[in-house]
Amino acid sequence: PYTGPGAEEIMRKRREFLSPSMFCFYKKPVNVVHGKMQYLFDDNGRRYLDAFGGIATVNCGHCHPDVVRAIVDQTKSLQHSTILYLNHAIADFAEALASKLPGDLKVVFFTNSGTEANELAMMMARLYTGCHDIISLRNAYHGNAAGTMAATAQCNWKFNVVQSGVHHALNPDPYRGLFGADGEKYAHDIQDLIHFGTSGHVAAFISEAIQGVGGIVELAPGYLPAVYNSIREAGGLCIADEVQSGFARVGSHFWGFEAHGVIPDIVTMAKGIGNGIPLGAVVTTPEVAEVLTRRCYFNTFGGNPVCTAAGHAVLKVIEKENLQENAHIVGSYLKKRLSDLKSKHEIIGDVRGRGLMLGVELVTDRQLKTPAKVEILQVMDQMKEMGVLVGKGGFYGNVFRITPPLCFTKEDADFLVDVMDYAMTKL
Ligand code: PMP
Repeated sequence: PYTGPGAEEIMRKRREFLSPSMFCFYKKPVNVVHGKMQYLFDDNGRRYLDAFGGIATVNCGHCHPDVVRAIVDQTKSLQHSTILYLNHAIADFAEALASKLPGDLKVVFFTNSGTEANELAMMMARLYTGCHDIISLRNAYHGNAAGTMAATAQCNWKFNVVQSGVHHALNPDPYRGLFGADGEKYAHDIQDLIHFGTSGHVAAFISEAIQGVGGIVELAPGYLPAVYNSIREAGGLCIADEVQSGFARVGSHFWGFEAHGVIPDIVTMAKGIGNGIPLGAVVTTPEVAEVLTRRCYFNTFGGNPVCTAAGHAVLKVIEKENLQENAHIVGSYLKKRLSDLKSKHEIIGDVRGRGLMLGVELVTDRQLKTPAKVEILQVMDQMKEMGVLVGKGGFYGNVFRITPPLCFTKEDADFLVDVMDYAMTKL
């Protein structure tokens, strides 16, 4: 049994010694002390179904024994920086990771986070093209450093940073967007931005396949192929941010962009890559990768032996346990059950997503799509009381984000939906 400090003591220390910017989802925060696969346990030994492990994207499940073993074994033999000496862990994982990517995408740069990966990807695109302009989508989230904060396109994540050469295009959002699910219509906006906002040449276009922080918005079909064409005609590179949608989460494919039938020039990843261990990566072609030989490029812990050993173990678990197929089967089942709830609860405006990356948008008026910002907190709190943890996001904070570990079962899906159903009935 747990004998450490309780929630109140942790909250006191947090208030006194940690940044006031830290926030908690719940009125009464959960003190999680232990995790096992799709479950979390609090200080009283109470079990919660974790339907938001996706925030750290523990795709294999919490404390998966194979991943833990890889980390422990590597820690016992060596942990170091990645420069100066050789070590097999980084090379083995790079080779395995490259085998999961299509086309000529086979050169890997490791980082410690998604932010770093996107910063590096944008810098490489700028170096490669000699252009500065980058286009990202409204409602996107790409990180919290200067360049990525500029590419992020929601005011609540932007501080007053100097934002140069970044353009935000219309979001091809099938639910709230101007053109519904007609991807090609939104793609004209990219063409306009290139014609009227740049010199006609751009460095890159960066986007998620399914916006995570933005509230599980799956880009309208037909959008990415059209945009990739326009960007390439303008000399730019296409960057796929797979930080949330990568590593089998979308079920139908290993990477989110594959569902759109495109092949990017640069792919960035983090979260799920290490099952909770800080790790990120940029994968690109040998031709683009060459730009980083022009100066010294160095990252102390990017690709260190312990994190890359974890990453390699993750790939093996995904394969061994058929997690992609499971994400597809259980995710489709869960989406169907959530969609069925729509006929019962007027508050559900939209159910969307793919695999085990699902969103439920709550509105107080289906016609006006008025965000149900208060109601969602009530439902979320009630669900927590009944032992189910879900996430929340979207610009208005009114979308449930359901991104559980990929070992989620149909029984877990049923439990989640029944609990959500009950909590909504209680509203
Ligand atoms: N890209 C996407 C799509 C993300 O969701 C996030 C994190 N929420 C990031 C980049 C940044 O990753 P990190 O927090 O690891 O820097």
